[in-house]
Amino acid sequence: MEKTLPSGLEAGPLGRCVASFCAAPANIVVTFSPQAMAGRLQPRAYCNAHVELLFVDDETYEARQRTHAGGLGPHVYQRSKYEIREPSDAEAAELAHERAAEERWAAEGRVGSYRRIVELHSAVTVEGLLVDAWTAGACVALYDALNEGNRERWLAMPVAQQCEVAVRLVMGGRR
Ligand SMILES: [Zn+2]
Repeated sequence: MEKTLPSGLEAGPLGRCVASFCAAPANIVVTFSPQAMAGRLQPRAYCNAHVELLFVDDETYEARQRTHAGGLGPHVYQRSKYEIREPSDAEAAELAHERAAEERWAAEGRVGSYRRIVELHSAVTVEGLLVDAWTAGACVALYDALNEGNRERWLAMPVAQQCEVAVRLVMGGRR
């Protein structure tokens, strides 16, 4: 569950470290080069702890490869093959923007709740109704496409009706 920011930087949700299930804010950028053969080229944003843990020196890397022949064991990267740096100003601004997402969603009310479900890929109960990421995505797409007057009409509907209308209009009712 990661997100590509406008600059191309890959980060976890809410500007977090890109390592699985890490809740720490990302503050170090690692650039993956074609030579490193990591299967990805976009820079990724990690927390300090994960950079230390995952990007090891050549000696440690070779020792790990020997111990875990066949690719078993925790995945580590050979530090010398990557560029590890502070985020650029643009990247730092994007990460800060992501970190402020909860505040933006809270300020946007109902639509903010739907945006949050989409962004975090987690179904949440909105006014008693469990809304999944797929349905919330339809709600956000519809809201963003509507003009001011229709937004107000749609926002005045109960959650069940909002979802039904959004799914019908945006997705043609199909999954
Ligand atoms: Zn981390």
